[in-house]
Amino acid sequence: MIKLFKPGGVHADVAIIGGSGLYDPGIVENPIDVKVYTPFGEPSDFITVGEIEGVRVAFLPRHGKGHRIPPHLVNYRANIWALKSLGVKWILGVSAVGSLREDYRPGDFVAPDQFIDMTKCRTYSFFNGAMVAHVSMADPFCDDLRYKLIEVSKRLGYTIHDKGTYICIEGPRFSTRAESRVWKEVFKADIIGMTLVPEVNLACEAELCYAILAMVTDYDVWAERPVTADEVEKIMTSNVERARNIIRELVPQLNRDPSIERCSCCRALKHALV
Ligand SMILES: [Zn+2]
Repeated sequence: MIKLFKPGGVHADVAIIGGSGLYDPGIVENPIDVKVYTPFGEPSDFITVGEIEGVRVAFLPRHGKGHRIPPHLVNYRANIWALKSLGVKWILGVSAVGSLREDYRPGDFVAPDQFIDMTKCRTYSFFNGAMVAHVSMADPFCDDLRYKLIEVSKRLGYTIHDKGTYICIEGPRFSTRAESRVWKEVFKADIIGMTLVPEVNLACEAELCYAILAMVTDYDVWAERPVTADEVEKIMTSNVERARNIIRELVPQLNRDPSIERCSCCRALKHALV
């Protein structure tokens, strides 16, 4: 069912931003699709709002349904603004990534704790004049949300690496072999993708708790190990199925645990505004 209105009256506590392969939530009860208008234009798609075990949850496919929007053209500001305007406090981004390490295997999950930004021409801030904000990115992800994510994934029996540096490239092209070796050997990054920045920056400026469930689909080109589209497709399908299971277990915990409110994400602007 599609309703066209501003989100007044529609509320969610938790948001899932779905990445490649995860375009529809599938696990949300009583879903309605909401069109949200923002000062920054349109979000990637309608936002599906519903419940998982009584917790209000919003789902937004980062690339739009059917993967219409490439990473460098996603309207990240509209996406984060729209979720904030629904009342969301926690965002779990789900992203397919390449691996820069032998031991982060296709099919593994990673909860990155750091990132390196190699994007080139995106809009990085809500504060582009009149007000200026320099938010801290020393520890860019919400640790409370990360720990919950890791705990739930392990309980389900999935392999999740509890640390990792995500290098975000501009895309939409993939890296050259020379670049891939620089990311791996010089920068010491662990996984590579195209969508983390500026999603993470903007979530921080919006004072939201943000973490990433990164799903390794293949080794990046440093490995000189060509994979077929078939193999990647198989891994993706399995990753998405398991990501749904993780979301189904994780979301109900986010409303019940009062400790999660104590993290510093919700006060990111306190000393950042100039
Ligand atoms: Zn937090």
